[in-house]
Amino acid sequence: MSLTSVKEILQHASKHAYAVPAFNIFNYESAMWAIKAAEKVRMPVIIQFFPGYTIHVSMRVIADTVKDLARNARVPVGLHLDHARDFETAIAGIAAGFSSVMIDGSALPFEDNVALTSQVRRVATVFGVDVEAELGHVGSGSKLDDFTNPNNYTDPKEVKRFVELTDVDSLAIAVGNGHGHYLTAPVLDFERISAIKAETDIPLVMHGGSDIPDEQIRESVIRGMSKFNIATEYGCAMYKAQEPVVAQQDSHFGVLHAMEEKVLEYLTAKFELLNPNGYRGDEK
Ligand SMILES: [Zn+2]
Repeated sequence: MSLTSVKEILQHASKHAYAVPAFNIFNYESAMWAIKAAEKVRMPVIIQFFPGYTIHVSMRVIADTVKDLARNARVPVGLHLDHARDFETAIAGIAAGFSSVMIDGSALPFEDNVALTSQVRRVATVFGVDVEAELGHVGSGSKLDDFTNPNNYTDPKEVKRFVELTDVDSLAIAVGNGHGHYLTAPVLDFERISAIKAETDIPLVMHGGSDIPDEQIRESVIRGMSKFNIATEYGCAMYKAQEPVVAQQDSHFGVLHAMEEKVLEYLTAKFELLNPNGYRGDEK
């Protein structure tokens, strides 16, 4: 099958009370393994790419690779550009073939965030591309204030107006989550998730989905979060899987192939964690 729209994937997840992992990838293997794991558990998956990684690989190579993998996949595969921080980057993603983009105006004042997001929305609509925005600011897990200071969190009272003004398809929210490794275990604000969920029908996105304790992930899904971005944890899982095989292998291919089993173990467990009610898709 060809790519499935991220909007469609998330609406399905929202309806069936599970969440979809969005794995940040940077090469063929990291994308292929995420899709292979999705097939094992028969669940949709979102493959996403951080624009900062264009120092390593172009957006077009990633988009073409994921489209090719999606064509042969037995589960729905969405392709998403993560964290475009300006108009140009978001549009470059659309031009490269991404069928969903995030425009991250979360560091801007409300009205400027609305203006930037709306600009991207207009162009994305022309090309039939889905848009994720962010309200409240998800900072770094390595800066305590970023993820523990409620001033950075999403204000539920602003949500309805932001969604109406921007017409986005999904919304990233700040509720005690942060990017990368956490200095101390995060304590997510579940009441805030529920309050935000009550304000809008569009799917909600959790950035900084790595290293959040399992029980908090599960509770967030039950409260209505639909997409979990997972970058740091996936990178670490790949690194850990690689470490023991590097010394024993004499070819590059051998290392990558030997990593697969451990990586798939990590990935399939993540799908199960995000699926507290045990929803299962049909084999395609
Ligand atoms: Zn993020």
